[in-house]
Amino acid sequence: MSVSIDAGFDGGNINVERGGPDEWDLSIRKDAHSDFLQWFHFRVSGAAGRALTLRILNAGQSAYPYGWPGYRARVSDDLEDWRQAETSYSDGVLTIRHTPASDICWFAYFAPYPMDRHHWLVGRAAAAPGVRVRMLGLTVDGQPMDLVEMGESGPAVWLYARQHPGETMAQWWMEGAIERLIDPADPVARALRQRCRLFIVPNMNPDGSRRGHLRTNALGVNLNRVWHAPDPKTEPEVACVLAEMDRVGCDFALDVHGDEAIPHVFIAGFEGIPAATERQTRLYGAFIARLARLSPDFQTEKGYDPSRPGEGNMSMSTNAVAHRFGCPAFTLEMPFKDADDLPDPERGWSPGRSKALGRDCLAALLETLHDL
Ligand code: ZN
Repeated sequence: MSVSIDAGFDGGNINVERGGPDEWDLSIRKDAHSDFLQWFHFRVSGAAGRALTLRILNAGQSAYPYGWPGYRARVSDDLEDWRQAETSYSDGVLTIRHTPASDICWFAYFAPYPMDRHHWLVGRAAAAPGVRVRMLGLTVDGQPMDLVEMGESGPAVWLYARQHPGETMAQWWMEGAIERLIDPADPVARALRQRCRLFIVPNMNPDGSRRGHLRTNALGVNLNRVWHAPDPKTEPEVACVLAEMDRVGCDFALDVHGDEAIPHVFIAGFEGIPAATERQTRLYGAFIARLARLSPDFQTEKGYDPSRPGEGNMSMSTNAVAHRFGCPAFTLEMPFKDADDLPDPERGWSPGRSKALGRDCLAALLETLHDL
């Protein structure tokens, strides 16, 4: 029986260089029209009981080589439960060792969130009472840009995720948040839906997601670098969302991401915009303090160094939106590695923990609404 490796499916990414049946040399494909590479997702078949050694030869040329030390690849034999595999990194090569229990198993940079599941999530939301789902536009590949809306009055709260498609934990976060919001028995959800208008984009980059990209859309655009002036031709994803923000307003913006290198959950803000207001800064601090109290997975010690006022990159969503609307805006980062504050040796940072954080962020949002 022959062992084989393939990646010709939604979100798949790997090239087979050589090898078999037990030892394989692999490489990660670059995002289309760009040099970014780091996301991988592939299937191994016919290898039940074999001690596999999978070497990703170009890991050292990835966008974030600091993402590899201390990292462990995720493996699953049912596409549901993703566990950490034995993984090491040296001389620019990422080596994964695993003995599959059955003849089909999948490996990925992080638990994938395929477009099928996106449609399932949006469909579930649309079927819930009081929820509206609108298509804001089409991507370059012709996929829908879905907006989930709920709440009739009050401040406009925007939640959006996965501008960087390889950061799949961001859409797991969305699944946790949306499930909570459509639970008719959940008091946090009921209160939120009474007191604010929620505008939710569960996936900002469907094309990159389906193509198995780390960071860009179909044309190689890093969507989180175009928010100052998005071109509807090359980055329709951002252009249609920003146009809707202009139309309905934006009083609170949370942009959900994953970070390759830092083994913690943290938030980056808009300190670098030219002139943040006292109110904006106070609301920003209040949300973070509440989230830190609610979620032991969240912390405020480790993260990015804040920019000085006027020196921030105004093409990034958090800065651009904070500047444009004068509102608090947040970049929430979850790890690809484990979160060192509360480690889980079996699964590392995981879909379940991403979803729990989504739920806790809503509770922190509800408390912050009193001040908005
Ligand atoms: Zn990101």
